[in-house]
Amino acid sequence: MKKLGTGSLVIATHNTGKLKEIQALLDPYGAECLSAGSLGLPEPVETGTTFVENALIKARAAAEGSGLVSLADDSGLSVEALGGRPGVYTADWAERQWFEGDAGRDWFMAMGKVEGMVQAQGPDASRACAFHCVLALAWPDGEHAVYEGIAPGTLTWPPRGEMGFGYDPVFVPQNREQTFAELNPADKHAISHRADAFAKLVADQFS
Ligand code: IMP
Repeated sequence: MKKLGTGSLVIATHNTGKLKEIQALLDPYGAECLSAGSLGLPEPVETGTTFVENALIKARAAAEGSGLVSLADDSGLSVEALGGRPGVYTADWAERQWFEGDAGRDWFMAMGKVEGMVQAQGPDASRACAFHCVLALAWPDGEHAVYEGIAPGTLTWPPRGEMGFGYDPVFVPQNREQTFAELNPADKHAISHRADAFAKLVADQFS
């Protein structure tokens, strides 16, 4: 199995927030991070039906385009009562596609959609859910490695908290009372799906 060295690592994202977060997590291990966006690499279409497939699509596209080892992540929320949805479509559920000319994402609308679908199943519907994060490493020769992280929790309504992003205001992590959006970032990162996946990557790649 190949190992990451201290050389350049392409982060397969055009999202600067995600790039910064990943850079900070990998800083202690000496990897020099470049983003796919800064290298002018196109964003591949995420045609996978699982987090693993989509993470691999992004990592492989960046590795092929750059000739360098690349890291991609794919994440989302799975709700038990909805058979795991929105899953890989978590970001898509926030698209305001029906308002012409009003591109962008509306997270309140997306959270309301999830809540409405759970409530439609009646008062006894399960409110169990989990954030998932898959990290995929791809080398230009085709080798790859995958690490899966999970943060189990329950859905709450109405949304609470001002911090975080996306669906954080309706997600109460296991054994807590505050939502992810009410926790300070350090507390969230200590228990998040992304932290879990990174801990597995670091244990495997830098031990
Ligand atoms: P992607 O991994 O960039 O495809 O996006 C996944 C989507 O899942 C994000 O746009 C968020 O809506 C949601 N998501 C992933 N991680 C978190 C999190 O930590 N908090 C809230 N929402 C998240």
